[in-house]
Amino acid sequence: MTQEIGGFAALGLHPAVLAAIAAVGYEEPSPIQNQAIPVILGGHDMIGQAQTGTGKTAAFALPLLSKIDPARREPQVLVLAPTRELALQVATAFEVYSKQMPGVGVVAIYGGAPMGPQLKAIRQGAQIIVATPGRLVDHLSRNAGLLSTIGFLVLDEADEMLKLGFMDDLEVIFEAMPEGRQSVLFSATLPHSIRAIAEKHLRDPQHVKIAAKTQTVARIEQAHLMVHADQKIPAVLRLLEVEDFDALIAFVRTKQATLDLASALEAKGYKAAALNGDIAQNQRERVIESLKDGRLDIVVATDVAARGLDVARITHVFNVDMPYDPESYVHRIGRTGRAGREGRALLLVTPRERRMLQVIERVTGQKVAEARLPNAQQVLEARIRKLTNGLAPLVAEAEASHGELLDKLIAEIGCSPRALAAALLRKATNGQSLTLAELEKEQPLVPSSAPRERSERSGERDRERRAPVPLAEGRARCRTPLGARDGIAARNLLGAILNEGGLVREAIGRIQVRDSFSLVELPEEGLERLLTKLKDTRVAGKQLKLRRYRED
Ligand code: AMP
Repeated sequence: MTQEIGGFAALGLHPAVLAAIAAVGYEEPSPIQNQAIPVILGGHDMIGQAQTGTGKTAAFALPLLSKIDPARREPQVLVLAPTRELALQVATAFEVYSKQMPGVGVVAIYGGAPMGPQLKAIRQGAQIIVATPGRLVDHLSRNAGLLSTIGFLVLDEADEMLKLGFMDDLEVIFEAMPEGRQSVLFSATLPHSIRAIAEKHLRDPQHVKIAAKTQTVARIEQAHLMVHADQKIPAVLRLLEVEDFDALIAFVRTKQATLDLASALEAKGYKAAALNGDIAQNQRERVIESLKDGRLDIVVATDVAARGLDVARITHVFNVDMPYDPESYVHRIGRTGRAGREGRALLLVTPRERRMLQVIERVTGQKVAEARLPNAQQVLEARIRKLTNGLAPLVAEAEASHGELLDKLIAEIGCSPRALAAALLRKATNGQSLTLAELEKEQPLVPSSAPRERSERSGERDRERRAPVPLAEGRARCRTPLGARDGIAARNLLGAILNEGGLVREAIGRIQVRDSFSLVELPEEGLERLLTKLKDTRVAGKQLKLRRYRED
């Protein structure tokens, strides 16, 4: 569907950027991209209110790549991100989108890694620097002119940067850049502190946010599940075991994802097909017809490809990838519950996308309850139920049609009817596990729930007075001799561990700051490696000296 790529083309992006978008399989700009790209291409400063999952990275990366001059081998774009994890993600996105632009280089600058290679990449002429503020300030103290050629600045997740205590670093960085630069600030929320930064450092910024007008949702049963991005396919497969569906539509973001999921489903014996913008119109119609008449039960589609798809058999909508905005969510789930039937909508949420879930709940005025992945016992029960339901209607007449053959086989093989029935069952179930022990082996546990959003930043003191909270499974408690008397706050510890340890925020549990020490909950897995990594980390000028803490 070339006109969909036209959705991007109409925005005025560089042809090499358009080629890269086509290669990654994006079909149309997300709402934040539609709004932000022209503003950034137009040279305006901008404040974008958007959270992870809206496509915000591409919203600034695509226009900035279209604006840089690849022939100038010096830093031109600076993106500041709160954590090493986000910085790496953004740097990777720039690399992907600049694949067709020879001579364009990206360097990620963050703590916990040696400075040498980062410096080398800058010296070799990288035009794009993606950095965490702390480490960038270290670089600046050695090379004050580092940012003197920056023409474009992006503050990504600005509210998070402030929460992590990077305000002073930001001021140092602003000072080191030319005044005439173009600045873009992205933030999920716009508290006073962010507005103050915008006022001081942005020039006449335009505001861009995704429309959040209240949406009414049809009466569809909705639930969400927390999963990690790389476990979406196993999660879908497991959910399908217990969901009683007639026809189902699964929404993903890219062409590749439609193909990956559809083939995983086919491999499990589902009648599934992919529907994306590359599929010719006549083939698309065939897919929809097949879904209507039951030759297909599952269609895996992108939003573009599913446009206008209206099939009364659809009982389930799976939002495997997060929709870009609440409107699209409402639109997607409206595909089920047609013709007065019951509908069910499931949404997979990765830990980073939790905020987007909250936006959907706010805009639709409904809670989307948390569901859990079915366990082995539930899967077993569902398998047996399906088997029973499939066989029950056959018993009445099968004896008349196959009874004689059965007698013959029993005589020939010389076995009992029970033994033969068991053999037939094994054949019919195609090697499927049908005992709890086998199922438990077959289904390594996918974490069904990520840790809650930590709220220790607020109300931290209150909680300190309460009885110790038991450790969550898979977590270890660690201790540092730094505490409140060293001028330490939870956010300093959090910032240092995130940046230097390379962890995702969700991996860190409770942080308790006491007067003369602090306790931090960290993942048990890889703990020793993490502690080694943090060996030389300093917080508030003092060595962190984080060690495993045993209460006994
Ligand atoms: P972000 O909100 O920047 O974290 O992006 C969320 C995800 O959406 C990333 O995995 C992107 O690759 C993907 N994405 C961004 N824009 C598009 C688009 N126009 N079409 C499909 N996927 C996209």
